[in-house]
Amino acid sequence: MCGIIGIANHKEAAKVAFLGLYALQHRGEEAAGVASYDGREIRMVKNPGLVADAINATALEELKGLVAIGHCRYSTTGSSNYKNIQPFLVSHKGRPIAVAHNGNLTNTEELYRRLEEEGSIFQTSMDSELIVHLLVRSRNGADMKKWFQEVLSQLEGAFSLIFLVGNSVVGARDPQGFRPLCLGKLEGEYILASESSALDIIKAQFIRELEPGEIVIITGSKIETCFLPKKVEHKSQCIFENVYFSRPDSHIFDDNVYQVRKRLGARLADEHPVLDADFVMPIPDSGVYAALGYAQKLNKPYEVGMIRNHYVGRTFIQPTQFIRDFRVRVKLNPIHDVLNGKKVVVVEDSIVRGTTSRSRIEEIRRAGAKEIHLRISCPPIKYPCFYGIDFPSKKELIASKKSVAEVAEFIGVDSLEYLSLEGMLSVMKKSDDFCHACFTGKYPVKIPKNKSKYLLEQQ
Ligand code: AMP
Repeated sequence: MCGIIGIANHKEAAKVAFLGLYALQHRGEEAAGVASYDGREIRMVKNPGLVADAINATALEELKGLVAIGHCRYSTTGSSNYKNIQPFLVSHKGRPIAVAHNGNLTNTEELYRRLEEEGSIFQTSMDSELIVHLLVRSRNGADMKKWFQEVLSQLEGAFSLIFLVGNSVVGARDPQGFRPLCLGKLEGEYILASESSALDIIKAQFIRELEPGEIVIITGSKIETCFLPKKVEHKSQCIFENVYFSRPDSHIFDDNVYQVRKRLGARLADEHPVLDADFVMPIPDSGVYAALGYAQKLNKPYEVGMIRNHYVGRTFIQPTQFIRDFRVRVKLNPIHDVLNGKKVVVVEDSIVRGTTSRSRIEEIRRAGAKEIHLRISCPPIKYPCFYGIDFPSKKELIASKKSVAEVAEFIGVDSLEYLSLEGMLSVMKKSDDFCHACFTGKYPVKIPKNKSKYLLEQQ
């Protein structure tokens, strides 16, 4: 998963991109980068780490120009090495192009083989690089609309993209609309961003989301739009963006994430109430909003039984046996005086591998909870994602090999219930417009034969 941003026609475009990336940090903590075009060339700064560490102030000062794009990365294809940090930049016949990509292509192998056969040499192991190769090979480069229509219609799978092409910023969404991308405006300056919370942080006005299959080309204060030829009956917006990934203060897929999560929690309460519980608590922060919805629906007290430490950072000290659960405990600490002797409903957004949930429950138990009833605000995740969420292989997904009762036993709770698929879809504004392949295995776009995240490193 990744966060992307693009700014056009702003005197301090690179700085605005950098600030916007702060609001998208949750979409990728591995690496970050910003690129800007100064009228002659695209200059770029990118490094591993969080936005604030990856992009230092001195380097940012060097990024002049009125247009910029930015990216923060959480890898779903390719290793976490320097070459794979985005934006990805090339220059072809004197025309510099940079790209920032959120999503996962599903025809990577076919495109890679074809391009390599035709003489392409690849610098990275990211599917995003393929797009740049297609752009420089096209004969439609003189007409921006035709150019992007021709190139992007060769891609399959999930892509929300932002390009810097000379002094233009181009944004695009795949025809299914898997990943979010929105458009905002300052004065005469346009901004594209993965989530609307990135617009808020720079006080830009939200205009709208890009339509699935839409391409927006911004040059100076002029904005043009066109569409990819492929039309789909229903959108396949990623429902997991609503369940977990996006920020609660964002407006994506025509809804507010906070409110969607509360509705998921309320529906969970309808389906699986625990009427004699002393209180409802979330696993912070991911379960907070569903827990609120759950508690309000049942008119139960909402308590914060675990406290999140916001200053975790990275530690280079190998925890010894004595503190072997350090990583789990440094982040969340249960409150003994709240939990001791209580029958609690714990609400969490999802269970993936089950290992962190198990540690959290162990902590709650150790703090004295008498009974723990775990409620999950989405159905069991049984199938990997090929469209940009880093869900591991089927065998690592606990719900793909264990029944609900077995998962409950593994995690160590008195009861475990998940929200049903129908329940989850029923709280969405347009339930047909979502991809739920991770729960159902119904993939809306053909999945690749080679399923490895490191596909391009195996060639
Ligand atoms: P676990 O109990 O180890 O499966 O951890 C599940 C927690 O990790 C859930 O609270 C999820 O919110 C969070 N999570 C969300 N997406 C992912 C992901 N792609 N991989 C791993 N954990 C995730």
